[in-house]
Amino acid sequence: MRRLEAEMKNRGAACAAVVVFAVLALGGAVAARAQEMDRASLLRGYEARIRAVLARGELPIIDVEHHWGGKIALSDLLVKMDRNGVVLTWLGQNEKNGSAHVWGSVQQAPDRIVPVTIHGDGPRWHGQDPGLLAELAADVRSGRYFAMGEFEARHYISSTNDRDVHLPLDSPSFEAVFQLAEETGLPFLVHHEAEDAMLPEMERMLARHPRAKVIWCHVGRNRDSATWTAFPTPDGVRVFLMRYPNLYFDLNQAKPGSRHRGTNQVDSVLYDIDRTKGGDQPDARLNPAWKRLLEEFPDRFLIGTDVNTKRFDGYDQVIQTFRLLILNRLSPETAARIAWKNAWRFMAGQEWRE
Ligand SMILES: [Zn+2]
Repeated sequence: MRRLEAEMKNRGAACAAVVVFAVLALGGAVAARAQEMDRASLLRGYEARIRAVLARGELPIIDVEHHWGGKIALSDLLVKMDRNGVVLTWLGQNEKNGSAHVWGSVQQAPDRIVPVTIHGDGPRWHGQDPGLLAELAADVRSGRYFAMGEFEARHYISSTNDRDVHLPLDSPSFEAVFQLAEETGLPFLVHHEAEDAMLPEMERMLARHPRAKVIWCHVGRNRDSATWTAFPTPDGVRVFLMRYPNLYFDLNQAKPGSRHRGTNQVDSVLYDIDRTKGGDQPDARLNPAWKRLLEEFPDRFLIGTDVNTKRFDGYDQVIQTFRLLILNRLSPETAARIAWKNAWRFMAGQEWRE
């Protein structure tokens, strides 16, 4: 009897041990999933993905400027990325959804979606909502994000919105963003219409925050030749590149020959267009002076699609224009840097190891 009792006790203990083991295993799986979302683990996944594309002899692209409202199925974006050789996307979130909105997407495609914070492009940013800055500071300091989104200073109406606004770069809001960038090493994107009168405020901030990594979006743009004289020229941009080592650019995404909605002027100055050939597709080529600038400063330019919900259909065209008219025209090493290595350096904190 006593033996039977003892046996029952042993069996009970064994049962309990099985239950405890199962609970621990489940907990371990959850913990492992959470662990997969930290920066180091994500980087390993990104690296494997890039190496796979390189092994096929293709040029990967990292899209550093994407406006994600969460209204499109992520699978639709992943299909477009695959089709265009875009290996990673910095998936910037709308301010109303908040930075943490990105984690649902990262979970679905942890080796392809890069967590970055909100963009500053809505009423909370432009209304200088202090709560927004507090949220951003907490997100940035969490150490879980790879970059900050695009923050708007001077912004004209665009193809998809009517925001005609100016939050000066030396305002307290931008001061906070520049300080966060310096403190954490995270780069941020900035939208600032490059008319001559708008340049001094940018210069003041770049000089005041030499360790903040600033990616000024849409370089190679003209929106009004009367008020934009420096920045639509490679020489004007070169002066800034030499003066401010912390300044980077993403390349203007406008279709060759397309006109800005506000001024009806041709938006992109990156291309020379031959209209003698007729047809509605102008014959465009990379302007030689811009090409020289890209070759001279290969570490300072990046690719961003600037695609948002309304521009989603234009994704293929934007990437194919970059590939055919710009990247294919550059030396292979410069093309690799602009297409993905410069973005990688920001993410990994070091150069890509071949
Ligand atoms: Zn922009």
